[in-house]
Parts: sequence; structure tokens; C-alpha cells
Amino acid sequence: MNHNIIAPAAFTLYDLHSHTVASDGLLTPTELVTRAALMRVGVLAITDHDTTNGLAEADAAIQQQNLALKLIHGVEISTVWQQHEIHVVALNIDITHPRICQLLAEQATKRHQRAKEISQALEKAQIPDVWPNVTRLAKEAQITRSHFARYLVELGMASNISQVFKKYLAKDKIGYVPPHWCTIGQAINAIAQSGGQAVLAHPGRYRLTTKWLKRLLSHFSEQGGHGMEVATCQQTLDERVLLGQYAEQYNLLASQGSDFHYPCSWIELGRKLWLPAKVKPIWHDWPVR
Ligand code: AMP
Ligand code: MN
Ligand code: MN
Ligand code: MN
Repeated sequence: MNHNIIAPAAFTLYDLHSHTVASDGLLTPTELVTRAALMRVGVLAITDHDTTNGLAEADAAIQQQNLALKLIHGVEISTVWQQHEIHVVALNIDITHPRICQLLAEQATKRHQRAKEISQALEKAQIPDVWPNVTRLAKEAQITRSHFARYLVELGMASNISQVFKKYLAKDKIGYVPPHWCTIGQAINAIAQSGGQAVLAHPGRYRLTTKWLKRLLSHFSEQGGHGMEVATCQQTLDERVLLGQYAEQYNLLASQGSDFHYPCSWIELGRKLWLPAKVKPIWHDWPVR
């Protein structure tokens, strides 16, 4: 009997947003790419917060282990827009380009400064030895609020990371220091000049009303942004479809990424990453391997 079974076309799994110990991830670049290959991810972008430091080790590990994985050089840049912290993911940048190097150097200085101010604010609130412990936890990494959160959990000040954010680090809490990140336009320009594509990260996570989200998408697109994340691990089907419609409406290509930081049961490399029909993937014109 002939069922006319046709083998499906080769399918590549893209995960274009992930973190390592170079910022607030818990896996080394080597561990991350090994895990991505295990999860059958075919194309992985490492997008640490305001640093590209993990990429060289990741490239070397892929070569050494001969992994069936293509690594995209990326970075997640923190920006401020209308008093909201908006994240812009860069994909395919030339990490040696002076423009991106200069922007990331400025961001690193601002991160260091803000980290010191957060330490002072927490110490004022009687939390002991914040700076030495946060730098101990961060090691060589770009310091983020996640490192503060880990220290406060160590001290038993909260039962988990998200409780620390709620109680101490979120806007209006004692450990919150308003950041002075670059603008969305500055991030997009540096990314474009360095040969990359600028993608608006996790648009569903900024707690914006529909009106403000549309303003953000329109601004991002007008500033020359290339794409927006449409698919993440944790979202409803309705949200994914709606973001897909926004991508079309605002003339943005669609991206997808897990935003993986460490192994846990709800976020995993490559997990639930697929784009709704009709949207144009950010990788549509990337060279085939
Ligand atoms: P920063 O860029 O220093 O402000 O740190 C932001 C990082 O903290 C994000 O990339 C997340 O990894 C983490 N983060 C932010 N908010 C939360 C939260 N509510 N719960 C857990 N982690 C969070
Ligand atoms: Mn993070
Ligand atoms: Mn982010
Ligand atoms: Mn991220």
C-alpha cells in the first residue's frame, strides 16, 4: 500500500536569545553551546547583557567538539525609552567593529556605576557587605541586578530571585537606581553600523498598555529597527499570534528566542520556539549553511 509519505523538509531550530556567565547566565559559553546542540538547536545566538565576552569561547567549543551548531554573534543592549528599560537584541554584529565596541564600553561603565549605587542603597538599608559579595558572584561578568538578587537570596532576605526583585530591586523599591542606558536609536545605529540586525526583545514583558506598546513598536521601526521577538518559551498562543500581527503591521521581521539563563523546568534552549504563519523570519535572507 502506498501512503504517499513525503519526508518533511529539513528543519532548523533557531534560538536567537541566550545568556552565559559573561553576564547573568549560569552556564559557561562551552556548557551553553553543548546544551544547545543536545536540544537540537541548529542556530544559536548568544546575547549577553551589554557584553560580547562569551562569544570567543563559544566559537572555540563548537569547533573543538565539532558541534552541529551555528553560532550567531549577538548582544542584548539595555536602553531607556520614556522611562522604560527596553532591551534591544543585536544579531550578526561584527564584534570588533569600533562603533559597537565603543557603545558597549560606555554601557559597561554605566553598569559598574549603577551597581555601586545599588550597593550603597542596599547597605543604607542595613544589608551587609553588598559590593564585595556581588563582585564575588559576578566574577568577571557584566554586573546585573540578577547578581544582587542572588546575594540577597544567599542572605535569606527572600526565598527566591523574583521575590528579591519584587521586594528590593523593582522600580520604587529601596535598591532601585534609575539607569542611564543609551537610547533605542543609539543602540540601533551602533548595531546597524556594525553590520548587524536590531531586534526588539520580549515586547510582552514591559507591562505596557496596548497604546504604549504600539508607540514603542512604531518608534523602534522608525528608528531603523529590523525585527522584534514574536516567539518566546512562555507565552500564550494568543500573545504569539498578536505579536506576529504587530510584526507585520510595523514592518518588522520576526525573531524567536528562549532568553535562557540557566537550566530550569519552564525555560529551555529551543523550547516552544516557532513563528506563526505569515510573518517573515529575521533569518529569511541569512546565508544557508
Ligand atoms: P539589569 O539589566 O541589571 O537591570 O538586570 C536585568 C536582569 O535581571 C534581566 O535580564 C533578568 O535576567 C533579571 N530580572 C529582571 N526582572 C526579574 C524578575 N522579576 N525576576 C527574575 N529575574 C529578573
Ligand atoms: Mn538577564
Ligand atoms: Mn531582556
Ligand atoms: Mn535576555
